[in-house]
Amino acid sequence: MAEHDVDLLVIGAGSGGVRAARIAAGYGASVMVAEEYRVGGTCVIRGCIPKKLLVYASRFAEEFEDAAGYGWTLGEPVFDWSSLVANKDREIARLELAYTTTLERAGVKIVKSRAVLEDAHTVRLLASGEKIRPRHILIATGAAPWFGPEIPGIEHVISSNEAFHLEELPARILIQGGSYIAVEFASIFNGLGSEVALVYRGENILRGFDDDLRAHLHAEMTKRGVRILCGRTVRAVQRTQDTFTARLSDDSSVEVDKVMFALGRWPNVGDLGLDAAGVRFTPNRGIAVDPLSQTSVPHIHAIGDVTNRVNLTPVAIREGHAFADTVFGGRPTAVDHANVPTAVFSEPEVGMVGLTEAQACERLAKVDVYKTSFRPLKMTLAGRDTRAFFKLVVDGESDQLVGCHIVGPDASEMIQFVAVALKMKATKADIDSVIAVHPTAAEELVTLRERALSHRREAAE
Ligand code: NDP
Repeated sequence: MAEHDVDLLVIGAGSGGVRAARIAAGYGASVMVAEEYRVGGTCVIRGCIPKKLLVYASRFAEEFEDAAGYGWTLGEPVFDWSSLVANKDREIARLELAYTTTLERAGVKIVKSRAVLEDAHTVRLLASGEKIRPRHILIATGAAPWFGPEIPGIEHVISSNEAFHLEELPARILIQGGSYIAVEFASIFNGLGSEVALVYRGENILRGFDDDLRAHLHAEMTKRGVRILCGRTVRAVQRTQDTFTARLSDDSSVEVDKVMFALGRWPNVGDLGLDAAGVRFTPNRGIAVDPLSQTSVPHIHAIGDVTNRVNLTPVAIREGHAFADTVFGGRPTAVDHANVPTAVFSEPEVGMVGLTEAQACERLAKVDVYKTSFRPLKMTLAGRDTRAFFKLVVDGESDQLVGCHIVGPDASEMIQFVAVALKMKATKADIDSVIAVHPTAAEELVTLRERALSHRREAAE
């Protein structure tokens, strides 16, 4: 009997696991993927992709309104939530099939089952009871919504998972949280016509992002009608037939048709048998790994959200690829987690890379800041009161770009290439040497000549 049944068992067919499986198989490894739910994972099934489809849907409302300024007369637009959900589900099913086909074409065996480690070398597939002895194990089980501390009525609260499949569009929704998911869903529901209250415990949404960007987004979302209630938490949720009353920590209450929490996601490590296998964890509940994604057990690796490093799909994909290169391609590859660009698909959307102004001031002796806020050209005839925001943070000593922060249409599209410039250590002078593409919003990036602020740290005595 062979010592190992497969070279690699991947647990979890999300973005990271699928990439790792495909690349490992390409190196000639025999690969099995165990997935208890659907192939595609959070990003494809109930995350980035369906979310972006809802974002597109929500933005038509403004487009219809703005069309009038451009000479169009439209009938009263009618929105049908169930058509959107059905069409979105059809696209997700198509993508799931595409992921499955790609894996199968690469020679990967997909097993629809939960997989549990019995010890460091044995994995049981619960669907069949079969025991597998893989040469390597990759844990890529992702993360799941966390509902926060137990409060009365928590059973009435939904997460983003359920938001994708609501039977009807809620006329009024309260969302608690102040980060990616809360802000994105607040904008989605607002655009689709729901009355939205966003409850956040801190002093302003998007903690960790640049302070000017946060203030700008707060103002823009408020202009669009999102009620942002900062410095508060939800203490209890009471149900009266089909409506819910959320009691807040300032003793106020909000009556809505749905309550959703987006308070972060916790790594899916429960009941996987990781303790039995000797796998260790980080204080933030992720699986502890080294820069090559190896756990405390040498033949067990972990990638993506389950490691709670940088929880973004493209990072998980990069980690999965690097794992396969390292273990099966003979090329040890560590993923660089610095300067990962990111976008928040709020309305207006956000793109950022690198240091915030505050972080730059903590780390650098001299910091120069360039920023502007302006009304995008398209908004003029539309008659819409909205402004875009751009900020460049520059190391005042080397003139190197260290951060970029954008709020406005297409911010996510712009930030991708700003990240290339930042990674290539472009200086402000390099950026200034580039001729603008006119008329665009992005041209602001290369025409920001006036320094708005110069921070100079006092030299130590
Ligand atoms: P995050 O982990 O990013 O943020 C959690 C939010 O909940 C914060 O605003 C936090 O407040 C708040 N919070 C945490 N605990 C409590 C509590 N006990 N009471 C009240 N508020 C609380 O979570 P998300 O759910 O928004 O996102 C989950 C992950 O998904 C993130 O890692 C993100 O990277 C990823 N994601 C990325 C997207 C993208 O790239 N566009 C889109 C969606 C998700 P505080 O700030 O004060 O800590």
